[in-house]
Amino acid sequence: MSALPFPPAVYAARLGRARLLARDAGLDAIVVGPGPDLTYLVGVEGSTFERLTALVVPAAGDPTVVVPRMELAKVRDTAVGALGLAVADWVDGEDPYESVAAALPVAPGRVAVSDALPALHVVPIGDRLGVRLELATPVLREGRMVKDAAEVAELRRAGAAIDAVHRLVPELIRAGRTEREVGADIAAAMVEAGHRVAEFVIVASGLNGADPHHDVSDRVIEDGDLVVVDIGGPVPSGYNSDSTRTYVVGTPDPEAARRIAVLERAQQAAVDVVRPGVTAESVDAAARGVLAAEGLAEAFVHRTGHGIGVSVHEEPYIAPGSAVVLREGMAFSIEPGIYFPGRWGARIEDIVVVTANGCERLNVTPHGLTPTRG
Ligand code: ZN
Ligand code: ZN
Ligand code: ZN
Repeated sequence: MSALPFPPAVYAARLGRARLLARDAGLDAIVVGPGPDLTYLVGVEGSTFERLTALVVPAAGDPTVVVPRMELAKVRDTAVGALGLAVADWVDGEDPYESVAAALPVAPGRVAVSDALPALHVVPIGDRLGVRLELATPVLREGRMVKDAAEVAELRRAGAAIDAVHRLVPELIRAGRTEREVGADIAAAMVEAGHRVAEFVIVASGLNGADPHHDVSDRVIEDGDLVVVDIGGPVPSGYNSDSTRTYVVGTPDPEAARRIAVLERAQQAAVDVVRPGVTAESVDAAARGVLAAEGLAEAFVHRTGHGIGVSVHEEPYIAPGSAVVLREGMAFSIEPGIYFPGRWGARIEDIVVVTANGCERLNVTPHGLTPTRG
């Protein structure tokens, strides 16, 4: 039985749209390898790295899935089977790039590949077709960036699940425990709350908080520590959660507390400007402006946010220079942070979805410096 999160007609519509967008972009075909684009278009997840699996979508004509025979059953158990897409299976010793060529019009002019297709396959496909391959990213992101109601419902489910975990975190962080111990408890709580897997668990205490992508370590949490907890992962449909809160053990340093209050205002300011028609960079600027006004511009070392869906990081990126105009249904994080190397750091992160006249926050646990109970 298929475990597709959406009805087959949804995937048929996504494929049809991708083909139209490819045609409008003047492409003869797109070749999509394993990764979030393949998951989005036909529901296929995983696949081996060195054996080619690829969805070949000609701008005119029907798509074909090139797949190793040993993975055929798994691939058929997705929209590929449900929609009866053509399949070209191959066994070790055969040349899968011939199958890609056979699925395309003779002597194609412009062919684009998904950005997750390994170079291991990109180079031979380009050689076999005799074309300089292009990136399909601009075509493929159009579908994925704007979520429909069913996708928003899945993101909402993911948001509620991660909020349930953040509500438990004040019980889990205590002076004397290591980041790793706390992280293991959080990971278990994430699965308990409905995640397929705890994809990432950042527990960054004390000076580790100054590293935005810290993982967990054997550092023992101390009284007075700030602890950045950034957690997320997919729910069964494959749509992801991602939320950060900053906790404090005992009494915070007053200057740190003052700066984190500014950070909370910066995060709120960015949320407040989200609506259809504004650019991604203006959302970034709203957060950045509040921090800069308080002398914290230098402490904010990354973009304000990233899109989220079947992958944790995707378009639209909420960053300086990002001219993407927001549309209803776009979903992304708003996560300004401040970092003081060797001392401490803090970050506040929510996922928001653009609505007709503003946005809906999918994470609603308290945003400010959150006391632990230990
Ligand atoms: Zn990140
Ligand atoms: Zn995060
Ligand atoms: Zn994030």
